[in-house]
Amino acid sequence: METLWSDFLNSQWHDWRGSGRSEDRLELRAWQERFLSDWHLAAPVPMPAEAASAMRHFRERLHLLAVKLADGGGMEDGDWQLLNEHLALDVVSRRLIGRPGAVRLVYVPVTEDWRHVRAEIAASFGETLLGGETGRIRVCDNPDCRWIFYDDTRNRTKKYCDDKMCGNLMKVRRFRARKKAGEERGEES
Ligand SMILES: [Zn+2]
Repeated sequence: METLWSDFLNSQWHDWRGSGRSEDRLELRAWQERFLSDWHLAAPVPMPAEAASAMRHFRERLHLLAVKLADGGGMEDGDWQLLNEHLALDVVSRRLIGRPGAVRLVYVPVTEDWRHVRAEIAASFGETLLGGETGRIRVCDNPDCRWIFYDDTRNRTKKYCDDKMCGNLMKVRRFRARKKAGEERGEES
């Protein structure tokens, strides 16, 4: 399942096919437009340099936290502090939207900028914590890929970001390794 926070972390892209290529998509205009539109957020595009450096810094720390939780670690004081730091900087106002039979209370950002986006990312991570299911945070088992995702499958056994891509690739790699090991044994005898 894609969440706002994992989509943000995956802006640091690694070629899952194993070419060793990686790309920081955070500063690509196309990535910024797609990201804001997918999550119904608004902020200046292209991202100003100062915002980009704050976003990268936050991404680095949130990535460490996600990997730690994926490895079975727990939240520590500094981790709560990291999330609260970004939540505290945001100012929202509340608005009631009333329609017959449907009343909603919505939070409207006072400023539409990347600082607000970071608060939304921290809030999204907070929702994962509120769900109490940090054991479902995963790093794709393909070491070349390292895609971060939230495993929402019933039996909690999702190992790859995408079974058709990374899952198949790893299956082929295992098959080749076994075949090679078999051939080597064959040559020796
Ligand atoms: Zn993957």
